[in-house]
Amino acid sequence: LTQLYSPLHFLGFIYREIKHSLADMERMFGLLETHAEVADDAGAEVLATRAAGVRFEHVDFGYDAKRQILHDVSLSIPPGRTLAVVGASGAGKSTLSRLLFRFYDVTAGGISINGTDIRQMTQDSLRAHIGIVPQDTVLFNDSIYYNIAYGRPGASREEIIEAAKSAHIHDFVVGLPDGYDTLVGERGLKLSGGEKQRVAIARTILKNPPILVFDEATSALDSRTEKAIQHELAEISANRTTLIIAHRLSTVVDADEIVVLDGGRVIERGSHRQLVEQNGRYAEMWLLQQESESTAEVL
Ligand code: ATP
Repeated sequence: LTQLYSPLHFLGFIYREIKHSLADMERMFGLLETHAEVADDAGAEVLATRAAGVRFEHVDFGYDAKRQILHDVSLSIPPGRTLAVVGASGAGKSTLSRLLFRFYDVTAGGISINGTDIRQMTQDSLRAHIGIVPQDTVLFNDSIYYNIAYGRPGASREEIIEAAKSAHIHDFVVGLPDGYDTLVGERGLKLSGGEKQRVAIARTILKNPPILVFDEATSALDSRTEKAIQHELAEISANRTTLIIAHRLSTVVDADEIVVLDGGRVIERGSHRQLVEQNGRYAEMWLLQQESESTAEVL
C-alpha cells in the first residue's frame, strides 16, 4: 500500500501544481529536473534535529564538467549562528545555497549537518530542515493565504495569521479589499519586492525550520523597506542556523562570521571588525559602499 500511496500522493501533488499557472509549471519542471540530478542513497537516514550545525568541507563544484564554479570552499556554521557570504556577482554565492538544499551534488569534498553528509540523508528530511527566503520570490497565482500556507500544509488559520504578523505583512493584507483572499502572482495583484519577500518570510516562519537561508534581493529595495526586512530577518534568524547570501554589506555587519568569495574561492573570512581591520577586499568593498551611501544622501 505504501508503494501505491507514494506515486498517488505525488500525482496529487502534480495535479495541484498543474492547477496553477504556466509560470508555476515552469518552476515545477525546474524542480523535477533538479530532483532527477540527485537520488536518495539506499540506506539514507532521516534527518531530525532542531540544532543543526552546517559544514562545507573542501567543496568543489561546477554545473557542468567544463566549468568549475567553486574551488575548495570550506565553511562552518555552528547551530544557531549566522554566516554571511559576500562577493561580486557570479562569485558563486547562491550556488552554495543550492548545494545545501541538494539541488546538485558537490564534485569533491562534502557538506554535512551535525557531522552527517547530506548525501546520506533523505532529500525530504533534509529539505524539511531548511527554509529559504529567495532573492525573487515566485508567488503562486492564488490567494495570499495560500501563498503563506504553502510553508506548512495543514497549518491552521490562526497559525497562518500569526506568521503573517511576525513577518509584518498582516496589516497590509487586512487593508486589501479581499484581505487574505486577495489573488496575487502573475494574474493577480502585483506585490512589491519587499511585500513579496515578506510573504516568503511568513511562509518560512510557518515552516519553522532549524536552518534558514536568506538570499538577499539583488534589486535594491527602498532603504526603509530594506531596513524593515533586515529587522524581520534578525528576528527570525535568532536561534536558527543562518546562511545569508548578501548583496549589501549593511546586512552582514552583525553576522558571526563573514566569508568573502571571489571567483568561487574563499579569499577572506572573519567578523566585520576583523575584516575591516585586515584592510583587504572586504574593507575595500565596505569603503566603496560607505562612499556611495553618503553620495546618495547628498543627492
Ligand atoms: P549574484 O550575486 O549575481 O547572485 P552569485 O555569486 O550568487 O551571483 P551564482 O548564482 O552562485 O553567483 O553563480 C555562479 C556562477 O555559476 C555564475 O557564473 C553563473 O553563470 C553560473 N551558474 C549559475 N547557475 C547556473 C546553472 N544552473 N547552470 C550553469 N551555470 C550556472
